[in-house]
Amino acid sequence: MKRLGVIGGMSWESTAIYYRYLNQQIKAAKGPLSSAPLLLWNMDFAPLAQLQAEGEWDELTELMCAAARGLKAGGAEALIIATNTMHLMADEVQQAADLPLVHIADATAGAIRGAGVRKPLLLATRFTMEKEFYRHRLEHGANCAVVVPEEPHRTSIHNVIYKELVQGEVKATSRETYLNIIGYYQREHGIDGVIFGCTEVGMLIDQSMIDVPCFDTSAIHCEAAAAAILGH
Ligand code: GLU
Repeated sequence: MKRLGVIGGMSWESTAIYYRYLNQQIKAAKGPLSSAPLLLWNMDFAPLAQLQAEGEWDELTELMCAAARGLKAGGAEALIIATNTMHLMADEVQQAADLPLVHIADATAGAIRGAGVRKPLLLATRFTMEKEFYRHRLEHGANCAVVVPEEPHRTSIHNVIYKELVQGEVKATSRETYLNIIGYYQREHGIDGVIFGCTEVGMLIDQSMIDVPCFDTSAIHCEAAAAAILGH
């Protein structure tokens, strides 16, 4: 198996989910006592979230590249970035470490294409919803038209992520907010799928609550990463 370097901690709530998913995948493939060969570089999210809010993306890129180089020095043979938003600098991170990087949007695009979904709604941080890096990669990879929520929906979605989910708070009122937003885009825009385009969204809602196919990027990314560990 290949040793996977994980740039995590953004937030640790979703990195904990990644840890479980990755080990479950390897256990399923290799046997009940097997666990995933991992190296975790756990970023301190507090200063990073501040830099995101200030738009200091160059500084964030340097910090992410330093993490990638550290993982390579520690023996990582492939990398993942355990957040959607921080794929903004995925190319720089990949080049800094000179290792294969399993890209979350490519894995998600594959799942959307496989399900035949053409008009999925994107639930994510403001950065992932508004910047082009993520949406374009999905649209290109899945041959779909991603629906980005309008205001004030974007602000509600973003605030639930930063003020609650990344802090480990899961509130019924916020679940209702998300489900109401999804219902609105089903009625008014004919969406035929929902992308959980933030690694914490699966803490709040799941497929059983929604009657179109859902794409949980944490689970999808871990499946693709496990395949890389296994050399598939
Ligand atoms: N984990 C989140 C994501 O998937 C948000 C936190 C971050 O900005 O990294 O985008």
